[in-house]
Amino acid sequence: RSNAEKFEFQAEVSRLMDIIINSLYSNKDIFLRELISNASDALDKIRFLSLTDKEILGDGDNAKLEIQIKLDKEKKILSIRDRGIGMTKEDLIKNLGTIAKSGTSSFVEKMQKTGDLNLIGQFGVGFYSVYLVADYVEVISKHNDDKQYVWESKADGAFAISEDTWNEPLGRGTEIRIHLRDEAGEYLEEFKLKELVKKYSEFINFPINLWASKEVDVEVPDDEVESSEEEEEESSKASSEEESEDEDAEKKPKTKTVKETTYEWELLNDVKAIWLRSPKDVTDEEYNKFYHSLAKDFSDEKPVTWSHFAAEGDVEFKAVLFVPPKAPHDLYESYYNSNKSNLKLYVRRVFISDEFDELLPKYLSFLQGLVDSDSLPLNVSREMLQQHSSLKTIKKKLIRKALDMIRRIAEEDPDESNDKDKKEEVSSDNDEKKGQYSKFWNEFGKSIKLGIIEDATNRNRLAKLLRFETSKSEGKLTSLDQYISRMKSEQKDIFYITGTSKEQLEKSPFLEQLKKKNYEVIFFTDPVDEYLMQYLMDYEDKKFQNVSKEGLKLGKSSKDKELKESFKDLTKWWKKSLAASDNLDDVKISNRLYNTPCVVVTSKFGWSANMERIMQSQTL
Ligand code: ADP
Ligand code: MG
Repeated sequence: RSNAEKFEFQAEVSRLMDIIINSLYSNKDIFLRELISNASDALDKIRFLSLTDKEILGDGDNAKLEIQIKLDKEKKILSIRDRGIGMTKEDLIKNLGTIAKSGTSSFVEKMQKTGDLNLIGQFGVGFYSVYLVADYVEVISKHNDDKQYVWESKADGAFAISEDTWNEPLGRGTEIRIHLRDEAGEYLEEFKLKELVKKYSEFINFPINLWASKEVDVEVPDDEVESSEEEEEESSKASSEEESEDEDAEKKPKTKTVKETTYEWELLNDVKAIWLRSPKDVTDEEYNKFYHSLAKDFSDEKPVTWSHFAAEGDVEFKAVLFVPPKAPHDLYESYYNSNKSNLKLYVRRVFISDEFDELLPKYLSFLQGLVDSDSLPLNVSREMLQQHSSLKTIKKKLIRKALDMIRRIAEEDPDESNDKDKKEEVSSDNDEKKGQYSKFWNEFGKSIKLGIIEDATNRNRLAKLLRFETSKSEGKLTSLDQYISRMKSEQKDIFYITGTSKEQLEKSPFLEQLKKKNYEVIFFTDPVDEYLMQYLMDYEDKKFQNVSKEGLKLGKSSKDKELKESFKDLTKWWKKSLAASDNLDDVKISNRLYNTPCVVVTSKFGWSANMERIMQSQTL
């Protein structure tokens, strides 16, 4: 093509494509849902813009917000077309090749390790999965602000862009023409495409239509039947060999039924908004599938749990929240510098945004879900919407519901119950729920801790969700409520110690007396725990006491005073001789040791030794 401009793929993108092309990954089906998901995103974008600018959609077919799939069996081309926002020339260059998304290299890394491509959509590089089945791809696109262009690439490190002067004008939107590899012929079968749309794209919010063939019986006058060459040959042969048969032919009826292939658009999905239905009418299977589609998580794992509810009152909305089975790859990586939320906001069934950090606090950004509200205005800009007072109410209710949902994971998990009878009773019909809370905790425990730090209003609710090991938990996780239920009658404070590992803490001299006296001590071994404990002062009227800090009270002994008196000279001398080091506050007789003669204790408001270590290594 004379007007083609050539571009090289950005290096990481090129590497990604190489790996995809040479991948032995057997589930090649995934490309279809990725392209449909892109089409749907593009449709969401134009629909959103049309809320404030009616003209933007145009009229006639252009205004139809739909996705169309067509097959060309002879040329082995599968085309997917949308009437979405489209891409300008610059968009094509940037989005499909020259700007690597942040997820590109982490996905390449993951793929090299696991060979698993299933989660490609979560990394923001789903488009390239088309090269699992194609050796050549054309992307024809028309954006309202630009002319129609063709992007094309054989995935050989380069792509070309040309102004489109030969294809039919699209009006608006994008058509992806996939030139299928020889071994990908199955994607030319209609039934295969129907099956895939059903399986992966059921919850797409726009109609997906297939240009489907249909065999119809048509009555045609006998003499007008156009016989094929073969038939003609055969009949001429027959007539030459057996002339007498000719007379019989005249007795045949005057019309004949023949099979004819016609084409028409066939709708493949029901465009159902699951969240608008009553929860009791939605099956678990439907929730599972909805989660996969929402989260672009097509692993075999089911969500841990979900909550589907309608809020009524001043602000009305419907919402579905999911706890995913696994944390997304960049959950904590981007925690401090991004507003990434996985919550999609709809207003009256129109998708508005999935970048609304006003809806959920950061620490709950691991949740997947959707909110649809009738109480928000449709025809205002995103910026205006972001300031709408109803958002505060929605956020408050969402947090409450989210924390309830997480608490329920624990309540329904037989492994979490202390009570043995209850354990058995629960477990009989709740096998699926067994072990779910510790699974949740392993993936998202850190988020709960960050929540305790950040969300003063819900601190107590969040503290209920905390799990940790203790000097008595024997490798199992336990909760504050369970700890309290085991506290000794004379014990006032909740004891804890911080450090790098359970093994290290178990040997700590700070624990000597506590162990001897049979007190339970919580082990906090995550660097974030030090920060956590600066915010978590008490729980259920009990104070937290770091056993390596000043202030540990283990019950008074009659000998305390006597001991203090008899060692007075020693402590005085010691304090005086160490005073020069400037780091010493006091020297005291301790009741926390047993074997170890002496130990350095941190003052009540000072950093623990562990915190000093963390600050020095900046490991958080
Ligand atoms: P993601 O969808 O996660 O952004 P993809 O690799 O699937 O990542 O797509 C890359 C980008 O290409 C999209 O963000 C979008 O800007 C653009 N794009 C892909 N397909 C289309 C389409 N059908 N219409 C408009 N833009 C598209
Ligand atoms: Mg995509």
